[in-house]
Amino acid sequence: MEREEALQALVEQPLDVLVVGGGIVGAGVIYAAVRAGLRAGLVEQYDFAFGTSSRSSRLLHGGLRYLAQGRVGLVFEASQEKLRLSKVVPHLVEPLPFVFPSYRDSRWPLWQLRIGVKLYDALCYGRNFGPSRSLRLSEIGELIPGLRREGYWGAVRYFDALTNDSRLVLDTLRASVMRGGIVCNYLRFEKADREQNRWICQLVDTLTGERLSCETGWVVNACGPWAPQFPQSKVRLRLTKGIHLVISRERLPIREAVVMSEGKRILFGIPWGRRVILGTTDTDYTDSLEDIPIEETDIDYVLGVTNEYFPQATIGREDVRAGWAGLRPLVAKGRGGPSDISRAHVIHVSSPGWVDVAGGKLTTYLLMGEQVVRKIVASMHRRVGRFNPGEPLLSTSECFPELGVLPPEPSQEVVEYFCRREWARRLEDIMIRRTSWHYYRDDVAQLSRQVASWMAEILGWDEFRKQEEIGRYFAQCAKTCVKL
Ligand SMILES: Cc1cc2nc3c(=O)[nH]c(=O)nc-3n(C[C@H](O)[C@H](O)[C@H](O)COP(=O)(O)OP(=O)(O)OC[C@H]3O[C@@H](n4cnc5c(N)ncnc54)[C@H](O)[C@@H]3O)c2cc1C
Repeated sequence: MEREEALQALVEQPLDVLVVGGGIVGAGVIYAAVRAGLRAGLVEQYDFAFGTSSRSSRLLHGGLRYLAQGRVGLVFEASQEKLRLSKVVPHLVEPLPFVFPSYRDSRWPLWQLRIGVKLYDALCYGRNFGPSRSLRLSEIGELIPGLRREGYWGAVRYFDALTNDSRLVLDTLRASVMRGGIVCNYLRFEKADREQNRWICQLVDTLTGERLSCETGWVVNACGPWAPQFPQSKVRLRLTKGIHLVISRERLPIREAVVMSEGKRILFGIPWGRRVILGTTDTDYTDSLEDIPIEETDIDYVLGVTNEYFPQATIGREDVRAGWAGLRPLVAKGRGGPSDISRAHVIHVSSPGWVDVAGGKLTTYLLMGEQVVRKIVASMHRRVGRFNPGEPLLSTSECFPELGVLPPEPSQEVVEYFCRREWARRLEDIMIRRTSWHYYRDDVAQLSRQVASWMAEILGWDEFRKQEEIGRYFAQCAKTCVKL
């Protein structure tokens, strides 16, 4: 369904559920809603996955570090969901071994790591992507060349998986539309008024400024960091910022992911095709939700920890090819450092017909969606059967393996596909979220001009609009360490 058809469908007939927010949580909710037989719509103020859901570490994980905090239930839940996703969206789950070295002065002693990874596997009922084990020193040199030897105590190796966060959102939305869902990007939810047990919702098309309204039984507030914005919302968040940097794999030729600790915190070096992703930070944040800066102190922190682990690599700012900054929508409870706040999710029916859902992780999005929909359906006195937990999101013929964990090769066909089937409206929608070319390619200046020309042909842009899009995209490059 194209965007124009979706706009019409939203206003024409009352919905059972309107999901506000086109991040991973919103995608999980609409997907569960359509599977439960509800008439469901979803609106996103910018592009799908514009928020945190395109700025994560791209991992599907139980969260080894939460074990050290004693949050065994949380790790169990996420571990089960991680395995489930490998069945549901196999083209977006690439098992990835992690090497966690321990040093004499480390807050992560080797004995604790050895027990931790065994427990981690046990929480997958022994079905993790591979068995964890201790590593010999000779193996370390091969897997993680250049790793600091001084003070080295030993290492463990365990498994999680690499994904592609924004593609996970897009494929989940595509699967929802195939099952009758209506989704629309660049459509902001402004407010809702309660009339005779229904909500009359005011929406604004953020591309044209046009106003429209729609009617729904339930509103699900899945706005991530924006969740507290509505008067009906009871969510209180503590936002913390996390940045990631992308460098060339030649500068850090790791074969497997590496875990680097800094006190109690851990950072990752994640191999990603020809690149390595380094991150992340975790600092309190209270500024603009739209423009989240990557500050020099953030870059220095990530590179500082990396260089401590790889002293000979001497990675500098000139090696940074791209970066992104995202906000964790953590549910505010008490004090403590940013890294101590629980990553658990909450679901509140805050007023009749209104659900807030917040917190959680990419990894648990299907579960969150199903829990929200169960609450809604129960209140309708309807029954929903057991969700088939292993049901593939898309059939083999509907999956595009080339649109997987790594960026696809550029072509006019793939750009046309994004415009016609994946609701791409702006140049950055394709360069950043649908392909990650922005973070990955060497030739973004030239490529973005080419993509803009293809989009102009497909979407009927005139020269002025095309140049406007290029200018807008180049401004994004400057903010995300991408050199033109
Ligand atoms: C640095 C970092 C690393 C992370 N790494 C991982 C990881 O490796 N693995 C993992 O499992 N999890 C990870 N997470 C957590 C995970 O990314 C987030 O929990 C998740 O993406 C949050 O999704 P969301 O849908 O709640 O929010 P968002 O993705 O922010 O979506 C909310 C959407 O609502 C839209 N919106 C807001 N207001 C309105 C409105 N009025 N009308 C319409 N739309 C609106 C916004 O534009 C936005 O797109 C990480 C998080 C961060 C910050």
